Amino acid sequence: MSLFNSKKTEDKWEKKYFSLLDEQEKLEKDQQQKEQLLCKIITRLALVSIGVSPQLDPYLTQIRKQLKKGLINDNLKQQLEQFSDTLLKLDDTSVKQDPKCLIEFLQRQFPRRKTEFERVYTLWQQGNYRTQHDMLLALHELVDEEQAVVSDIPKQQLDVDLICRQLLKLLENTDIPEPFSQRAEHLKIQLQDGEPLPILLEETLSLLADIKKHLLQERQDMARFLSQISSQLHALGNQTQGITDAFVQGNKKRNLLDQSFTQQMQDLQQNSANATDLDSLKQLVSSSLENITQQLGQHQQQEKTTQQQTQQKIDQLNSKIKQLEDESSMLETQLQQARHLAFNDPLTQLPNRLAYDERLEAELARFRRNGTPLSMAIWDIDFFKKINDSFGHKAGDKTLQIIGRLLQQHCREMDFIARFGGEEFVMLLPDTHSDAALIIAEKLRKTIEKTGFNSGGHKIRITVSCGISQFSPDDTAEAVFKRADAALYKAKNNGRNQCVIEPAQTT
Ligand code: GH3
Ligand code: MG
Ligand code: MG
Repeated sequence: MSLFNSKKTEDKWEKKYFSLLDEQEKLEKDQQQKEQLLCKIITRLALVSIGVSPQLDPYLTQIRKQLKKGLINDNLKQQLEQFSDTLLKLDDTSVKQDPKCLIEFLQRQFPRRKTEFERVYTLWQQGNYRTQHDMLLALHELVDEEQAVVSDIPKQQLDVDLICRQLLKLLENTDIPEPFSQRAEHLKIQLQDGEPLPILLEETLSLLADIKKHLLQERQDMARFLSQISSQLHALGNQTQGITDAFVQGNKKRNLLDQSFTQQMQDLQQNSANATDLDSLKQLVSSSLENITQQLGQHQQQEKTTQQQTQQKIDQLNSKIKQLEDESSMLETQLQQARHLAFNDPLTQLPNRLAYDERLEAELARFRRNGTPLSMAIWDIDFFKKINDSFGHKAGDKTLQIIGRLLQQHCREMDFIARFGGEEFVMLLPDTHSDAALIIAEKLRKTIEKTGFNSGGHKIRITVSCGISQFSPDDTAEAVFKRADAALYKAKNNGRNQCVIEPAQTT
């Protein structure tokens, strides 16, 4: 009878033991899913961060590679540590740019200081300035001294037009960040309208200095942000390690318990076979069961504590993951915005010159690979200065927006249009001979001619001129641009409001 009862108790404990095992398995599965999610997030973060700094890129690539082997991986830990060290060491030196262009420009503007500018450049190349900012300060001092002299020179002794044109060129070749675009546009207009030279020079230099400061600030912000992410990744790695350790310990304990139970069952089996009377058998069975009960109780208590601790760690991990997800999507949005700002003209929202350069390279490569025809069209608004002069710059800006929109809406989907600068637009027409390009351009020209423009109650009639040229097999982009520009010049000279083709020279 007592044997039968013991069997029942044994079954009960066995059931409990297996249900504990099931629970433990579930927790392990949950943990694995969390690890996979964490890996995915780190991979995404590494992907969006590539390109921020060339020193960081090799680590980011390695980290993504190592993540394929899972989170608990010594190489990954090492890569994360090296990544974090490099990140902390990043300073001004990572964003240094060759100031040759600026030096040459200043030498042309202030020829008497040519050798002094040259000396600053040589010192910079030899690494004698601690930061780029120090070098810019040295340049600024030279310019400051020279500016005092420039203001004293009678205006007619300076080639003001040439200086203005060069300043304009400098501005057009500089990537102007969005917060400065209005200031730059205003300055460009002042340069074209011939404001007093000292004012123009001062404004150009101060704009360039502010842009530089802004770019440095942006880069430092980005480095700080990445550094935060990196230390969070570290903390996460440590936490995950803690959870895994707890599971390893739990497994070990369970195996020991399992062994101990098996041993006791075997002993019980053996001893009960050797038992001579019922009493000693009873005693034997009851003491064995007492033993097992005690062990199981202890184990249960330990498991409960471990489970609570693990659950706590998982909760912490969950909130960290959530935080990382939020930060990663914020970073993605910021990068998308930065990309949009870098490749689009803020006034017309059309692709800008940078985007045009990129597209031109792709179209040229396709043209050389496939041999399908490719044409270029340059558009220029007729007598645009008059619109500004008669109705103000605001009306001029609005006109630029409308014409940009008309050109984009009425060209084909495969055509690419960019605002090239000022009131000029450039179009790339893939798979199109110059004759076909002319038909398309004529349609666009007529659409603009027919569109009524209205500014403050005034009806304005606006026309555009267009120069077209087709790429030939040995052409360079510059040669085609030159031909299209020459065609535009002809269109202007022939009376404007027309499209002209400049054929490629046949050999
Ligand atoms: P043409 O028919 O020969 O092309 O004459 P035009 O008056 O259009 O050409 P010109 O090059 O003499 O003048 C272009 C004007 O465009 C000068 C400049 O003030 C103006 N401009 C350039 N960019 C902008 C801008 O972003 N907004 C405004 N409102 N005006 C601009
Ligand atoms: Mg023009
Ligand atoms: Mg014009």
